[in-house]
Amino acid sequence: MRFKTRGEPKRGGLCHCMTCRKAHASAFNPFVVFEPAAVEISGLTAGWESSPGYVRAFCPVCGSRVVAVNDHGEGGREIELSLGSFDEAGWFRPDYESWTVRREPWLQPLCAPQFARERTR
Ligand SMILES: [Zn+2]
Repeated sequence: MRFKTRGEPKRGGLCHCMTCRKAHASAFNPFVVFEPAAVEISGLTAGWESSPGYVRAFCPVCGSRVVAVNDHGEGGREIELSLGSFDEAGWFRPDYESWTVRREPWLQPLCAPQFARERTR
């Protein structure tokens, strides 16, 4: 699976929720969010709906968790891409952290808005 993005993301964050932890087999999920028109995906993907309207897709060859499609119904769709799947480091910075109630106690908060659970604004 490969992807290309155009322009700047709408936002980016770190999610510490239990589903992201399990899906990424990691302490948190760093991600950026784009409009669907700004993302081009090619190659094989496989996926599963982890919550209603939220499909997590991965590369069936290497198993990397790469992209999620978040369907907000009337609110439109968004594409979430995992920061670690980009070819270079340092392109994006997280704007906030969500589900901090699940953050590992050894991790320091970022200097960014903190949400105990879902992002509310
Ligand atoms: Zn999450």
